[in-house]
Amino acid sequence: MPNTGEDGRWTRQAANERLIREFNYEKNLVDGADGRPDEELLFYCACGRGDCDRRLCLSIAEYREAHATPHRFIVDPDHFTPHIERIAERHPAYLVVEKLPAYQGADPTAE
Ligand SMILES: [Zn+2]
Repeated sequence: MPNTGEDGRWTRQAANERLIREFNYEKNLVDGADGRPDEELLFYCACGRGDCDRRLCLSIAEYREAHATPHRFIVDPDHFTPHIERIAERHPAYLVVEKLPAYQGADPTAE
């Protein structure tokens, strides 16, 4: 499958989601390692859109639960992208989405 045009765009968005997931983890869970599980933090929406500035409020426990399964991410309910992911869980303030198999291994450094 060529990594160009429309498909390349989706691949890049999928890769961005993984980077945001890693950023959220380091920012909130490593820096704040002594936080209580019920402490609520603001996480970046992991939709991967270049212009997204949404923040999602989750407890540390909710965040960990959402990411206990590989290829799952938290996104704003308005930022669900059916082309690259499916909804795994619905919450009032956020969705847990799972990357479709074709996009699970997208390499953030590949062009
Ligand atoms: Zn977003």
